[in-house]
Order: sequence, then structure tokens, then C-alpha cells
Amino acid sequence: MTDPSGLRLVALKCEKCGSLLDADQNDVVYYCNNCDTGYELINEKDELVPAEVDFALPADVMDAEIIYYPFWVFDADVEISSRDASGTGILGDIFKKKGGGEDVTKPVEKFYVPAFDTSMENIKRLGLGFTQNQPDYETVKKDKITGCIYSSKDAEKIAEFIFLSLEAEKPDMISNISYDLGLSSPKIVGMPFYRTDGSGLVDGILGIDL
Ligand SMILES: [Zn+2]
Repeated sequence: MTDPSGLRLVALKCEKCGSLLDADQNDVVYYCNNCDTGYELINEKDELVPAEVDFALPADVMDAEIIYYPFWVFDADVEISSRDASGTGILGDIFKKKGGGEDVTKPVEKFYVPAFDTSMENIKRLGLGFTQNQPDYETVKKDKITGCIYSSKDAEKIAEFIFLSLEAEKPDMISNISYDLGLSSPKIVGMPFYRTDGSGLVDGILGIDL
């Protein structure tokens, strides 16, 4: 989903303060450690546009080094409709169903899409976990983040994959619903992870093991 050549000939500098931007080769989001400004690289134009980047404070503080992994976080306004009334069952329970008048425990207001290099299985688990739980956390500006390989446009497509994966075992239902995730205002949140024994990771907000 990034430029397959991976070539980047110009050193990236913060447009605000001129500092060199720390980045891995396939990164599409940069964060200036000097002035706390975030950027997204728009590949078609090879242009840096401002992007909001925040860092979430962990809910459980562990005695281990925190590594921040980038998630795209969208404002979501999910609309699901179905030709038959029962068709939005599971999705309707988890996502806000507009105009249904039913009690929904926690409406989805934010949609979370992991944006770092990991398996699709992990992207699905983390994306669903965060989107279903709608966790509360404080954010700060401060840290170092690299490894965001998906653009906000890529993330919209991945959000759809995450959403549809909920109903993967019920393909009949998918063909019977129409939906609009209503994604807007993408921003990056660096989610805190801890390295566990061995090579595993656990996130510091919901405690999801990878
Ligand atoms: Zn800067």
C-alpha cells in the first residue's frame, strides 16, 4: 500500500521547525520530536500534510519499556440498514444503529485501525477490540513514533475489512445489509505497548496480547 519502490530521495524535514524527521523506510506518518508536529506523506503528490498525532497514556502501568504503535482513529458515524429487520443483529448491537431506537450499550464514536506492520489477524483483533470497547484514555504530546505504514486512505479500507470481519461467519447477512461507516477526521494515536516475556506484545490500554 506504500510506494513499492520504497525510494525516498529527499531527507524529510519538519516544515515548521526544520528538524530532520525520524522515519523508517516505509513510513507514511512522521512526528517531529522537536516541535510536536505530525505529518502524513501523501504519496501520489509526495507532499507532507499536517496530521494530528497524540500519544495515549497506558491504563496499566507496567515496569517495562513502553513502545508506541500508531493507530488511525476516525470519528465514526455508522449507519447500518437491512432489507429485513433482523439483518442488523450483531452489527447493530456493536455499532450505533441510526434511527433504530434500540438501546445500544456503547455506541461507536471512534473507529480504530492499527497502522503498523503486523498480521491482518492482529489488525483485526486490535481494531475490533478498540472499536468495540471505545476505551477512555488521556493523551499527551511527547514521544517517539515510527512504523506507520498505512495512509489514512488505506486505513479507511482496512476499517471496512475490520467491520465486515465481524460478520464473516454470516455471509448471507452481509449481502443483505448496506452500511456507511461515516469515517471522518482521521488522526494518529500512538498506543502504548509493553514487550512481554519472549517476543510478545501487550497493549497498555485494553491488555490485548499479540
Ligand atoms: Zn518540528
